[in-house]
Amino acid sequence: MSGSITRRGLFACAAVSSPLLCGCGWDAWAETAPDAESQVKGPPVADRPLTRISPHVFMIEAPGNIPAPDNGGFMSNLTFVIGRDGVVAIDSGSSTQIAEMAIRQLRAASDAPMAGLINTHFHGDHWLGNQAFVDAFGKDLPLYAHAGTRSAIEGAVGVYWRDSMVKWTERATLGTKIAPPNHDVDHGFVVDLGDATLRLHHYGVAHTPYDLAVEVEEDGVMCGGDVMMDRRIAIIDDGSFRGTLAALDALEKNSRTTIWAPAHGRAGPGVLRWQRELFEGIYESCVEAVKQGVELERALAIALKDPRLASRAAETRGWDHNIGRYVSIAYLEAEQAQF
Ligand SMILES: [Zn+2]
Repeated sequence: MSGSITRRGLFACAAVSSPLLCGCGWDAWAETAPDAESQVKGPPVADRPLTRISPHVFMIEAPGNIPAPDNGGFMSNLTFVIGRDGVVAIDSGSSTQIAEMAIRQLRAASDAPMAGLINTHFHGDHWLGNQAFVDAFGKDLPLYAHAGTRSAIEGAVGVYWRDSMVKWTERATLGTKIAPPNHDVDHGFVVDLGDATLRLHHYGVAHTPYDLAVEVEEDGVMCGGDVMMDRRIAIIDDGSFRGTLAALDALEKNSRTTIWAPAHGRAGPGVLRWQRELFEGIYESCVEAVKQGVELERALAIALKDPRLASRAAETRGWDHNIGRYVSIAYLEAEQAQF
């Protein structure tokens, strides 16, 4: 998307979001899309270590920031909660190949039965690996998600993400099949693994309208999906700045979290605060710009001077590529909030 964003453009983006193109160019791609569910399968993904971040929580950290041929689309972390009575996976990656690698790593560390998989939201890097879990653990394996996530994946959004991932990775994810979630869950749902209790949190529109965060109560860990990120700017095309800020506050207030485990970047105690201050800086700068009647085109320059943005520019992956678009979205949201 070039130049200033329009309201019409924003809504088009919300309908088909993408980490790269914001939906633009989709028509051209659709005409040449390969049969992504053909028998052909892309190559295996190289092993990545399973790292322990708390007594029950283990994470495979993604190497990539955006999906590309050299990372096979591996851009978001896969997390396992290993309890006495079983294992729950949180998100399944961008492809069958990524999920197969993660299952290999899990099995080298634990032979506890698989109790379920939770998809935090409908962006493809969080659920396109579902079919590998079904293949490994059976079709009765609970695939948990918010009902809105399930219905997005069952519809055009699911196909869009599967086919786009094939394109962005130059066919590395071929063979990935859509396996939509099969158990609708919502705020307050609990999975008991004996010595580890998983509690789901949902606070309305944040990164998407249907995000789930997964608290592992005994460990003080919150697996936040994409509601928070570590040194990345969360894509907000399907979400809301104000909603994200409210969700972050609710997650902090309604849990005893000491480690925030994002789907992008590294887990740690400061992730929520890092994300909150960045989003607050972007949104508050835009509110101020709207109040003063500053045009959208000049809002970016004002926002970039905010210390909360200035201090993060150098350490944030994809900053130059993304910050302009996110300030545009924040500006429109601030405008809508005012009138
Ligand atoms: Zn996402």
